[in-house]
Amino acid sequence: MIDIKNNLSMIRERADAAAKRAGRSGSDILLVAVTKTRSCEEIARAIRAGVTDVGENKVQEITEKFDKVGKFAELDGKGAHVRWHMIGHLQRNKVKYIVDKTDIIHSVDSVGLAEEIDKRAAARGRTMDVLVQVNAAGEESKFGVSTEGAKPLIDAIVERCPAVRVKGLMSIAPAAEDPEDVRRYFREVKELYDLIARDADGERLSAEYLSMGMTHDFEVAIEEGSNLIRVGTGIFGARDYGK
Ligand SMILES: *Cc1c(COP(=O)(O)O)cnc(C)c1O
Repeated sequence: MIDIKNNLSMIRERADAAAKRAGRSGSDILLVAVTKTRSCEEIARAIRAGVTDVGENKVQEITEKFDKVGKFAELDGKGAHVRWHMIGHLQRNKVKYIVDKTDIIHSVDSVGLAEEIDKRAAARGRTMDVLVQVNAAGEESKFGVSTEGAKPLIDAIVERCPAVRVKGLMSIAPAAEDPEDVRRYFREVKELYDLIARDADGERLSAEYLSMGMTHDFEVAIEEGSNLIRVGTGIFGARDYGK
């Protein structure tokens, strides 16, 4: 059986070391455990091992697991409240299914999507934290706005979506054998993040999260300024999509 607890502490150690290399503290790095394809039992084990934040990329998986995982955690006497991160592409017509079940949405890449989140959040009397997804490498296969498109999108969201709070940026680097090859993309997104920090009012717009780095490249991402890493395989082992 995969030793989730041991894997977690190894990831944390490596994240700490990367943060130190960049003159920062490991305690500034939020680790989001990516739980897509994992069972509720596995997620509960991760929570018991100290995970505070989980990330899913499909609406259906969030709705299926949300209540069950909450119950598992309670059964274990931890009463753990984990934060749920929506990290995958989100269709407008599905926002309504997760608006009560998500703490932060990482994948906002259009005004239309932000407006739908705004409408659904306002109807529930809440605000929703979001990150704007940036496709720094301009890959056809990936969602997200271009680096040039990020600022205008953020301005539009701040202007038009009072129930949405922009908390930073998210980016997925291209798949690369050597993570050094994607360092420049992380650097570009960090530059954008610093620009946003200058405009931040701390209310509707803040530079709180720079969500970059996965199992394969999180150390490079942290060295370039990431403060939120999304790690799945490194914690739970290889995914089995055939389940
Ligand atoms: C699956 C996924 C991850 C985690 O990937 P691993 O390589 O398993 O760490 C991170 N971010 C997003 C958006 C994902 O879909």
